Amino acid sequence: QAKNDGKDDVRVHDAQRQEAIEDRMRLATDLPGALQAGELVLHYQPVHAIDGHDLVAVEALMRWEHPTLGLVSPGSFIPLAEKTGLIVPIGAWALDEACRQLREWRTLFGNERGLQMSVNVSARQLADEGFAALVGQTLSRHGIPAGSLVLEITESMLVEDQRSEVSRLAALKQIGVQLAVDDFGTGYSSLSYLPRFPVDQLKIDRSLVEQIDQPRGKAVAAGIIELARVLGLESVAEGIEDENQLTALAALGCALGQGFHLARPAAAADITERLAEALSGRQMSARSC
Ligand code: C2E
Ligand code: MG
Ligand code: MG
Ligand code: MG
Repeated sequence: QAKNDGKDDVRVHDAQRQEAIEDRMRLATDLPGALQAGELVLHYQPVHAIDGHDLVAVEALMRWEHPTLGLVSPGSFIPLAEKTGLIVPIGAWALDEACRQLREWRTLFGNERGLQMSVNVSARQLADEGFAALVGQTLSRHGIPAGSLVLEITESMLVEDQRSEVSRLAALKQIGVQLAVDDFGTGYSSLSYLPRFPVDQLKIDRSLVEQIDQPRGKAVAAGIIELARVLGLESVAEGIEDENQLTALAALGCALGQGFHLARPAAAADITERLAEALSGRQMSARSC
């Protein structure tokens, strides 16, 4: 009977694999219509000052409210959108929607909070000739000061075609937006782009934060935070999942952090509540809740 059990396991496994393949095909078929159908939404994850716990920014993270598959995470459809080029219109929508939302929060809560908005940008978007102009138009359409917008780009995008990338990023800096290197420490481990690229933030990848409880992991995190400091960049730790990681990052002088321990990504309405709580003087830190 042990043999039979094994066969059943294989059958269940095959069925699951078949289902996963079918889901992926459904996503590929449905993605071109998702934007028009209004199925794409942005959730927002708070970014806190590690020292003091102030909510200083939010990162816009895309989700797809699929009519039959439910809430689909970006890992399942952004790569597809990048491959097909759909990321260009979808990314333009995300930028517009994030700026519209920031406008709404600034109107509700006042501008003096200086809340910042981070938006992830794909290589295909950055490669587009008109991207800097699009960013400029989007900011002025919503009356958002350029310095309040942080564009997150990944390390691997920075090593590809150095010269055109440098001029594209320079055009964005010209507008006044901030630039962040996302998932720092997971790319090609080439640092040669760093002196050349006009970036403002290093976002330390979750895989490094995870190892901060070990001596070597802590040494690497310390090195990155020090590198950011001497370059005059802000360090942002991603994926903080517990108090020990937060304490270690605070001791290393990391400026900002995000992660499930501080706040999970949430729908705009939930973030509105968090911002309202913050204004009424209550603490927004994980420690208070
Ligand atoms: P990312 O920009 O590095 O975003 C951080 C990811 O880590 C998010 O996943 C977030 O939900 C997750 N995260 C945050 N805190 C924690 C934590 O404490 N523990 C763990 N395990 N995870 C945490 P999400 O929302 O699934 O997004 C995945 C990736 O998809 C993003 O990584 C980004 O590269 C991409 N993405 C999301 N939205 C967009 C978008 O609008 N445009 C583009 N081009 N890419 C996007
Ligand atoms: Mg990001
Ligand atoms: Mg990241
Ligand atoms: Mg990531």
